[in-house]
Amino acid sequence: MKKSLLLAMAGLLVFWSCGDQDLKEEMPALKNQDELKVTFPEALNSSKRSGSGRLENQIAATLNASLFASTPYKVSDVHVCTLADANAIVNVETVDKQFESTLPSRWVPGDTRRNWNGDNDLKDIDWLSFTPFAIANGTYNADPIYQAMYNKWETGGFCKTVNIDRSPYDLTMGNPSLILGIGGLPPAAEPLADVSVIGFLPASIFNSIFGSPNVLGVAFSFVFTDPVTGEPTKTTRGKEDKAFTEVWFNNGFTWSNGAAPGKIDLESVILHEFGHTLNLGHFGILQRFTINGTSKLVYQPVNTMNAIYIGEPRNFLGPNDKGNFCEAWGSWPWN
Ligand SMILES: [Zn+2]
Repeated sequence: MKKSLLLAMAGLLVFWSCGDQDLKEEMPALKNQDELKVTFPEALNSSKRSGSGRLENQIAATLNASLFASTPYKVSDVHVCTLADANAIVNVETVDKQFESTLPSRWVPGDTRRNWNGDNDLKDIDWLSFTPFAIANGTYNADPIYQAMYNKWETGGFCKTVNIDRSPYDLTMGNPSLILGIGGLPPAAEPLADVSVIGFLPASIFNSIFGSPNVLGVAFSFVFTDPVTGEPTKTTRGKEDKAFTEVWFNNGFTWSNGAAPGKIDLESVILHEFGHTLNLGHFGILQRFTINGTSKLVYQPVNTMNAIYIGEPRNFLGPNDKGNFCEAWGSWPWN
């Protein structure tokens, strides 16, 4: 375990010991993420949410009508990464087909609205790790994997144009999620970085919000809105101006270092979700081939931005990942 994490945990214990008596009795020893209660807005509960269309659009609309009804930013899109559901794909040839090279929103270089961490460097993309939840299954410290996967995008995408920098985080900065409540931590008033990697959250949160046990991770992209019209501002090439992104992972799965049967590869899913934070969409067609009664799922072309995890490693950048990264970032910071 990293020293910084231990320090963060120690800080948390101190924080709690200052809490009110009732709370202290209820949660006498705060040792790990399991004891930090995560809550979500009731409006997001899948059993209560109304509306039709894609689930992701319903969630975005619900958030924009509730938590973000009067903020200077709103949710532009929600990308959900799912595990292939063997029961749901029986007798289907083409299982999924998505060719969205880049998202409708993009980061704007020099955007003074986006100086979240106060470093005044508006030509980089800053990300933070919410350290108490960076431990998958209470076992794997994903923190160094976050760093390695951002390095992979930064240096492996062919277009080495943008600096992707880690922004420091400690618990005195509060809860970095603008959607979730984290018991004992005051919510940050504004985003703390361009990308807040909230980490590995209880499965119950995913089950309640997405109404499915198959969601591995999700990236919420927020864009700035015009204070008068409430519509997204667009200062570059007709794309919405990205404000910040929040990433969650589902701790209900069995995670592993490397693809293995019944387990989910940490690097593959982290690299994928970080692709969304860097403006990439889902790319590829998933088909099911049946030969002599045996079915096999095959993605074409193979990319980390394939929408559905089919048990194969995706901890590398495929040809379209690289090409789409260049589409998104090739001219940075001269957009
Ligand atoms: Zn995805």
